[in-house]
Amino acid sequence: MIVTIDGPAGAGKSTIARRVADRLGMEYLDTGAMYRAVTWAALQRGIDPADESALVQLISHLRYDVDQDRVRVDGIDVTDEIRDPAVARAVSQVAAHPAVREHLVRWQREFARGRSIVTEGRDQGTVVFPDADVKIFLTASPEERARRRVAQWKEQGIQADYEEVLKEQQRRDALDSSRPVGALKRAEDAIEVDTDGRTVAEVVESIVELVRGGSDR
Ligand code: C5P
Repeated sequence: MIVTIDGPAGAGKSTIARRVADRLGMEYLDTGAMYRAVTWAALQRGIDPADESALVQLISHLRYDVDQDRVRVDGIDVTDEIRDPAVARAVSQVAAHPAVREHLVRWQREFARGRSIVTEGRDQGTVVFPDADVKIFLTASPEERARRRVAQWKEQGIQADYEEVLKEQQRRDALDSSRPVGALKRAEDAIEVDTDGRTVAEVVESIVELVRGGSDR
């Protein structure tokens, strides 16, 4: 079974997808982490995020793996590094290249082969798994999303300015929504779940119910 969860930055996709996967005994795939890992590797090597062919060259030699939530690139643990603001700033530009997406979409479909997964990203229900069993489009207002990001960072001891976070989030959403390939948009058959004013537990519960209802059909 495949459950897709797409939506804008900060809608709570990672937390919710992970918990839904746990509840249903399924595996979890964070496709944003893939794009971030490629971006991290490009920045490390001084590759220009605008240089599509250099990025493709890089990806074709890159070994990406995830084990118990630890993300590794060529065996190096980059779980924390891929959350750096420098990576966040460049990732949408890297992810806009069709040839980059082609490679990563292949990785994502390979991961799904023979598995039951909850996968989250921007294009999971539209491009990568158009035949998914259940598709969710997770939303929240921009202000709520920025507030959550600031709170999340505070928990990790990182001080972030709300206005800055809001601005950066809007920039990333605009880039993600306007690219010609793999744009952030709701699949026609996706169910929109608005998380404003709802707890994580409530949202998880409603998605678990949707999946159980959907798989009975
Ligand atoms: O979900 P997360 O914020 O970690 O994603 C980081 C970036 O990776 C997004 O802003 C987007 O540019 C890109 N991405 C994508 N397609 C996906 C997942 C993420 O283009 N399926």
